[in-house]
Amino acid sequence: MSQNTAHNERKLKRVIMKNTLILSLFPSIDLFGKAFEEQGACVVQAQDKILGGDICKFKPVSGRFDGVIGGSPCQDFSRLNRNPSTYGYKMLEEFKRVVFESGADWFLHENVVGVPEFEIEGYIIQRFTLDLAWFSDYSRLRVFTFGSKRGTVLNPIYKTNKDIKGTAVVGGDARSYEACCEIQGLDEPLDLSFLNLESKKQVIANAVPLQMGRYVAGLINKEYYGQSIEQSKTENIKLCLCGCGRRVLGRAKTANATCRKRVSRKKAAQECGKS
Ligand SMILES: [Zn+2]
Repeated sequence: MSQNTAHNERKLKRVIMKNTLILSLFPSIDLFGKAFEEQGACVVQAQDKILGGDICKFKPVSGRFDGVIGGSPCQDFSRLNRNPSTYGYKMLEEFKRVVFESGADWFLHENVVGVPEFEIEGYIIQRFTLDLAWFSDYSRLRVFTFGSKRGTVLNPIYKTNKDIKGTAVVGGDARSYEACCEIQGLDEPLDLSFLNLESKKQVIANAVPLQMGRYVAGLINKEYYGQSIEQSKTENIKLCLCGCGRRVLGRAKTANATCRKRVSRKKAAQECGKS
């Protein structure tokens, strides 16, 4: 390694989200925001339903926020929900509206696997899936949609699953409140004494697990704030053909073996459709 490269790498490690202002939408107990705070950002929360607020009345100041984050309500996109309403779609539209009106440099949206793909005018969009099992002993699949005005594309990890102890916290979880908090990545149970036990568990279940939030906040810190604009331009970067949102290098078309299988399955399905 040349001295210059070593110097640059040290510089990269030092970069933190200092002086970065992030707006957190649908915050609830905001474990998602906490993960960005740990990276050095200043996170402020919009009004939330849990305290009687209404996102529809929220008007962001334009040009002040660096990033907007949020996991809009996901129940309507969950495959377990047999009576989906239009509320999830409406709230996703609100997320898009606030991002657009804020004119933030980037946004990060979190949701369940069934969330529809979406675009926001002015942003280059990347959609990728992470499993909590890659960062802890519990499993939960989540879809992240990252958009940036300057066209930065992140390079999220992909792991195959190992043995796990169970799933992340769900609504009506049978495990103790203390255990639920621990599973979602909290060192100590949150004091939510204004809620009953069932509601306490529900807000914990709805939160983005801290281990996952930490990973993706660190990724943005490193790959968005740690890169020069030239380095991050999408022109030099190809994304995996399977649509997983991961980068591929050189002449490769897919990121890994699972992606290759996915591409050949897609091709086979298309062939079937034709005949
Ligand atoms: Zn892929």
